[in-house]
Amino acid sequence: MSADKIPYKIYLSEDEVPKAWYNLRADMKNKPAPLLNPGTGKPLTAEELSPIFCEELVAQELDETTPFIEIPEDIRNFYRMYRPAPLVRAYCLEEKLQTPAKIYYKFEGNNTSGSHKLNSAIAQAYYAKKQGLKGVTTETGAGQWGTALSMACSYFDLDCKVYMVKVSYEQKPFRREVMRTYGASVVPSPSETTEVGKKILAEHPGTTGSLGCAISEAVEVATKNPGYRYVLGSVLNQVLLHQSVIGLETKTALDKYGIKPDIIIGCAGGGSNLGGLIAPFMGEKLRGEADYRIIAVEPASCPSFTRGTFAYDFCDTGMICPLAKMYTLGSSFIPSANHAGGLRFHGMSTTLSQLYHDGFMEATSVEQTSVFEAAEQFARIEGILPAPESSHAIRVAIDEALKCKETGEEKTIVFGLTGTGYFDLVAYQKYNDGEMDDVIPTDEDIAASVAKLPRVNA
Ligand SMILES: *Cc1c(COP(=O)(O)O)cnc(C)c1O
Repeated sequence: MSADKIPYKIYLSEDEVPKAWYNLRADMKNKPAPLLNPGTGKPLTAEELSPIFCEELVAQELDETTPFIEIPEDIRNFYRMYRPAPLVRAYCLEEKLQTPAKIYYKFEGNNTSGSHKLNSAIAQAYYAKKQGLKGVTTETGAGQWGTALSMACSYFDLDCKVYMVKVSYEQKPFRREVMRTYGASVVPSPSETTEVGKKILAEHPGTTGSLGCAISEAVEVATKNPGYRYVLGSVLNQVLLHQSVIGLETKTALDKYGIKPDIIIGCAGGGSNLGGLIAPFMGEKLRGEADYRIIAVEPASCPSFTRGTFAYDFCDTGMICPLAKMYTLGSSFIPSANHAGGLRFHGMSTTLSQLYHDGFMEATSVEQTSVFEAAEQFARIEGILPAPESSHAIRVAIDEALKCKETGEEKTIVFGLTGTGYFDLVAYQKYNDGEMDDVIPTDEDIAASVAKLPRVNA
């Protein structure tokens, strides 16, 4: 088949929706460091995690040896409604850039939630239902995760309580209404409904909230209400596991035409889409079977990989969550309110942190005005209005393609187009009005929050 012209869209058949998730940790010699109990400083056991997370998800979280974990048929059936996701050859963008590079993107925005997050939301809701739970709690920042989870919970008839970062709750009423339409209850965070929320409000009256605060509230509600567990849309190993469907499909599609990528690019907030996209490729790299350049792209205003510290830290502001060893800016770090492009979490997946630390991948940070420039260029040529998060990857894919133009190299670039930007029009408006600028934390800002990292002997 490799002699054929490669189509604009490489579709797979429904039968090619993966039958098992790929657990990248099984192929890592240096495993990601375990989550620690903040009270004892010891690795968390399944018993300690089970009041917070569903049992099967705890098992997946702790499993670092099983390479393939079967996808239950109910989840595959749901996947079939919006997967396989197309892998698109960006012929029009290539021509516009006049680059010899071959650019592909895996488009994950073809579902109502508008992003890849549904891939894990449906899995987490399934296991909660299977365990006989009443419902789940979670946090959401910009609202993509909350929307995906609301869809998944309504499908399995579970209650869904979403703590939404207050600034987004106020600025993004439309996402809130999508969640409510799917039956979720949405509370602006920090709120008076939890002890930790009251404490944060007392210390920082008028705060517009952060993901870290919202996580603390959602965890508190899950642990205090019988029949509820907490679910998280990124960062955790289980989420990267579910997101491996992105990479597995991408690899199947490329293999059909004998295409081998040189560079794989993804935006990185907590690391789940990137971890999923690169999983099978990184597996080959770890096993010494192939080599790829892998680039994580983060915002210059929240640069965990490129300016953070590799250390144990809390995943939340309230410091009630487990400690994770990751690249972090410190759990008290709050990106500038001016930052409109998402990817605001202070830390990073432990798996990706370890791989980055061991030199298996690169990271770069980009400023939001250049991200929106890339978004605009992409939208005008490829037609899809990209999410600001996804546009970080577009920025670097375009930059790499322009480098190929200078050197004449015909590199194959694959990037993750994680979602659509229809709910980010306030950010686009700022850009269109010329009112967007770049607020980058100073070394002092980062040092101040890193100084508050918990002391752990590990
Ligand atoms: C949440 C989100 C991201 C970032 O999260 P990761 O866990 O790093 O993948 C990227 N793109 C979109 C569209 C998102 O909704």
